Amino acid sequence: MTKFILPPLPYSFGALEPYIDAQTMEIHHDRHHATYVEKLNHALEKHTELQSKTVQELLLSLDKLPAEIKTEVRNNGGGHLNHSMFWLMLKQNGGKMPQGKVYDAIKKDFNNFEAFKVEFNAKAKSVFGSGWAWLVINKDGKLEITATHNQDNPIEKNMQPILGLDVWEHAYYLKYQNKRPDYINAWWNVINWEQVEENYDNILG
Ligand code: MN
Repeated sequence: MTKFILPPLPYSFGALEPYIDAQTMEIHHDRHHATYVEKLNHALEKHTELQSKTVQELLLSLDKLPAEIKTEVRNNGGGHLNHSMFWLMLKQNGGKMPQGKVYDAIKKDFNNFEAFKVEFNAKAKSVFGSGWAWLVINKDGKLEITATHNQDNPIEKNMQPILGLDVWEHAYYLKYQNKRPDYINAWWNVINWEQVEENYDNILG
């Protein structure tokens, strides 16, 4: 079968220090993400007809999946997709202002970068329990900030994510404990805006 595989982290575990610590990155990638991949493969083991599908295709056809694997695919397929995107959206010495089309779109849809940042932070803080905050392109082609619970991905709501922040406790608890706002503030220093720009171009051209 086409097994889903854990993509390698594109930098060292410590690359995002001091904003995201090495131990958190190692556990987050090597254990949490690895487990999503393992459980997704396990769920599909007996369903050969689904094994050639991409993770996006699986998540967009949840309603058509056999009932006994639907939840497993939703949670672990979502976990695999979300984290595969997340690692690329981070980089060492990131966090500078976005340039080009994404910056222009942020100014157009949020008035200015500071207002966008305030709204994104508020959304990320307000996620109750485990989930994600996202900057997405909505069906009208405009930028929008949204949140998802658990490992749901915005594509399931017909929105295309270009930037996402994992606010599960496993993403920050070792360093920040209950202080999620401190983690959110630190994250702005490691955003890979070139990747966000690429995501935007891939969707809108
Ligand atoms: Mn995570």
